[in-house]
Amino acid sequence: MPRIAIIRKDRCNPQGCGGYLCARVCPVNMEGKDCIVPGPPPDKKPVIAENLCTGCGICPNRCPFDAIDIINLPERLENPIHRYGRNGFHLYSLPTPVFGKVVGIVGRNGIGKSTAIKILSGMLKPNLGSDEDASWDALVEFFKGREAQKYFEALRDGKVKVAYKPQHVELIPETMKGKVEDLLRKVDERKAFDDVVDVLDLRSVLERDISQVSGGELQRIAIAATVLRKANLYVFDEPTSYLDIKQRIRVSRFIKSLADKDTAVLVVEHDLIILDFLTDLLHIMYGKQGAYGVVSLPKATRTGMNTYLEGFIRDENMRFRDHSIRFLRRVERKQRTAEDVTSWSDLNVTLGDFLLKAGSGSVKKGQVVGVLGENGIGKTTFVKLLAGVIKPGEGSVEREVKVAYKPQYLDGKSDELVMNVLGDAVREYDNLLITPLDLKPLLTKHLNTLSGGELQRVAIARCLSEDAQVFLLDEPSAYLDIEQRLAFSRLVRDFVDQREVSVLIVDHDMLFIDYLSDKILVFEGKPAVEGVVTGPFELKDGMNRFLKEVNITMRRDIESNRPRINKTGSQLDREQRSKNEYYAG
Ligand code: ADP
Ligand code: ADP
Ligand code: MG
Repeated sequence: MPRIAIIRKDRCNPQGCGGYLCARVCPVNMEGKDCIVPGPPPDKKPVIAENLCTGCGICPNRCPFDAIDIINLPERLENPIHRYGRNGFHLYSLPTPVFGKVVGIVGRNGIGKSTAIKILSGMLKPNLGSDEDASWDALVEFFKGREAQKYFEALRDGKVKVAYKPQHVELIPETMKGKVEDLLRKVDERKAFDDVVDVLDLRSVLERDISQVSGGELQRIAIAATVLRKANLYVFDEPTSYLDIKQRIRVSRFIKSLADKDTAVLVVEHDLIILDFLTDLLHIMYGKQGAYGVVSLPKATRTGMNTYLEGFIRDENMRFRDHSIRFLRRVERKQRTAEDVTSWSDLNVTLGDFLLKAGSGSVKKGQVVGVLGENGIGKTTFVKLLAGVIKPGEGSVEREVKVAYKPQYLDGKSDELVMNVLGDAVREYDNLLITPLDLKPLLTKHLNTLSGGELQRVAIARCLSEDAQVFLLDEPSAYLDIEQRLAFSRLVRDFVDQREVSVLIVDHDMLFIDYLSDKILVFEGKPAVEGVVTGPFELKDGMNRFLKEVNITMRRDIESNRPRINKTGSQLDREQRSKNEYYAG
């Protein structure tokens, strides 16, 4: 069986374990062979010889930093396409761009999606698992007889021109300077500046300096800069982060429209409703985070998505999750008849130029309430009313409650230890928070060294460990991969059941909201001017109301019961609109 040894260099500390503990406990070393040896400077991290390793399992077990993985790979895997050095991450196989189609990639963080995309873009020269970059001819040879052969021939011959939208748009202002308009004009090879600016709703930020725009604006600027280039492969690494639902749909329609007989589009995305809507074909990526990743063969999107939720790829006989993910029908959801945790009368409040109105309503113990609404529409203000932090001008909050709040934007600049940030309270919730959020490996890290997803998990735990009756989580899905979103949903369910509290969740990932909410609170109006709160509604009624405003219809997939966006103008779309049923099923 092919075997790889992975050392996570960010965790490994060969002095901290008393000096190469892995080498000292290795039975092969004890026989006098060099299976695990100190590596070259500067870091001198150990090196494991895969051809000598017997897979005994001792070193990964004994390493105090959990830095070693010895992995027996599925039998049929051949050579990797790329590895990041000896004992580094290995990538097997690649997604295949197809002209005229949008091809999607779904999979966990750290499974090699960005690496695969960089290889196809020609930004990273793969090494086929050796210590040197492979030549173009070797790559073509490697893929001989497969779809990718043609692609690499074209790449070799300079016939592929790639435009690439990177994952981390927040890093753009570090390398790009100047006014938004100037930056976009500079890359406008297609002479499409005005069209693109209008479709992506960027007119109002053109005059601004790139360092002065919000996350959502930066995302749309990055997308604009990509599509303005003349290319035959457009690649988008996580294009919906920071965008609200309306913008996600708008951007998706636009990206879809790029694919034609001479143009291929490739997209990585964790919002499954958007990925389903946007793509024709889907590759699933599985493996072990930070260790290795495998790209599945492409599947038609609907099948691919259901396969992903199932956790089992039949034609490759590969189970990559020990359970399948199910979406419950309305009637299957538990009805909650518990008492109110908070309630309010018709009320309104004015803050500066902003007016917030709410119709009377209540939240019950043990409820998860999904909150739908744009940014700046008054969600935080409303929760402050519930907490009694601000008082309404008219009307009243009948039961004020203690509220804990996780803000949308997280501050990760402090160098405090995660352990201290989380404090004592969180220790009481080992089963409820620490384990499901996988926080143990983070406890001894400093806040300012965490990735976006790590910071998000810490912020969620900190909020939920507070002593409160209502918890408001603003965009908890940001930076979380699809598996973490689903794990988080289960955690919230267990949490409200056990603690008899209520959780309000603001998010723009509709699949996530559908999966997790008992009720829906809808915010309408005009951001920064007026917000109108209605509900909480039953899930279907709330979604229906919201989708009508966003002007899309959704049905449920017959097989998996997951929600899907209908194609505009399709028969189902027209039928549902005529019945005023924007959210079917
Ligand atoms: P994804 O996009 O699926 O989150 P990436 O392709 O960014 O994953 O990374 C996959 C793994 O490859 C990461 O977990 C990391 O361990 C490793 N990796 C990424 N870039 C480098 C690099 N430049 N050098 C060494 N290892 C890397
Ligand atoms: P959301 O949480 O939906 O993003 P907020 O409730 O934070 O929205 O804000 C709604 C609007 O109210 C924003 O335009 C914000 O600028 C304004 N606002 C919030 N608090 C105050 C305040 N204390 N004084 C003046 N305006 C405020
Ligand atoms: Mg990535």
